[in-house]
Order: sequence, then structure tokens, then C-alpha cells
Amino acid sequence: MTKDVVLLAAFALLLSLIQFGIFCPRIITRAQWGGSDPLVKMKPLILPAFYFIIHQSFGPTCFNQTSCVIQMRNIQNFHIHSHKLPDIGYNFCIGQDGNVYEGRGWEVQGADVSGFSSHSLSICFIGSFEMSIPNFITFLAAQELILCGINKGFVSSSYSLIAHRQISALNSQCPGNALLNELKRNTRFKNNPQTIR
Ligand SMILES: [Zn+2]
Repeated sequence: MTKDVVLLAAFALLLSLIQFGIFCPRIITRAQWGGSDPLVKMKPLILPAFYFIIHQSFGPTCFNQTSCVIQMRNIQNFHIHSHKLPDIGYNFCIGQDGNVYEGRGWEVQGADVSGFSSHSLSICFIGSFEMSIPNFITFLAAQELILCGINKGFVSSSYSLIAHRQISALNSQCPGNALLNELKRNTRFKNNPQTIR
């Protein structure tokens, strides 16, 4: 085999790996973290999603799967019992163990944010990030999750990142200031997000 043929074969392999979602991070399913089923049938998302709404959980953070699983159960219980939501509000959560934890998943609307829920996916960083930001592997997992969503057709390749507080006056602390400042450095951050419908 010539060098060109080897390179071509390597390129074809790379393309097929991308196609089959090699960039997807490790996603811990609801069954794996012990999530309970939604209380009602959830509204479908209009795909592909255009926005990722970034949240913090406000509670303790976690650095391994055992403690992140506990946080996921706490968040779901809090949303159902205190916020009276039919399920955990977020589409995905990410722990500082570098795992993604499935919330409502790719195809269902997140908790209502007027004018945005139908075409947005929400990502919650587990913890409080007022003074410090999540570690590197947390951001890496978020980036992989977004690439994975694009590869699977759930996310528009022209997606934008927005902070929860930009679209909800009631949640002016979300995500924390340190995480918000980090988010603003991302080229996909949208300063003035507009509702689509
Ligand atoms: Zn939030």
C-alpha cells in the first residue's frame, strides 16, 4: 500500500467514526442513576435544537460517579417536590467526574422557559459556580455532548450557548458568575438571544 492509500483509509475511518458518534461522551442513563419516570408525557422538542441553555445546580458538586448519582437523585426530587415539575428540569447534567448524566434527553423539551423551551436543550453543571468554574474534563464532556448532538441530528451546527439568567429574570443567579464569565469567552455565546417561537 502506498502512503496515499493508507492516509485515505485513515480519513475514511475517521469519517465513519464521527458518523457513528465517536465524539459522544459517556452518558449515564436515567436507569443507571436511578431516576424515576416523568409524572406526565413530556412535550417533544422541535429538532434540531438551536440553543443550549446553561445552568448550575446550586447544590454540592461531585467528582465521582457515586456522588454524582446522589446529586442527580437530589436534583430530580427537588424539581418534582419543590418546583412541582413533572421531571428533572434539565436535558443533561454534567459532573466534575467528566460524565454526562441523562435528564430529559435529546428529544424532549426542558422545563419551561417562555419562548425558548421548544427549540433549546439545557445543560446543568452539577455544583455552584459563583466563585470558581468547573474543571477541564467537565467542559470537555460538554463539548463532546454538543458534537454528539450535531452528529446525531439533534442539534443545529449553528447552535448558540446562552445562560439561564439571560432568558429568565427569576433566575438571575444561574449559572454562577464565574461560570457565566467563562461562558462569555466561548465564541458560541449569544449576547442577545431571540425567541424563535
Ligand atoms: Zn438555571
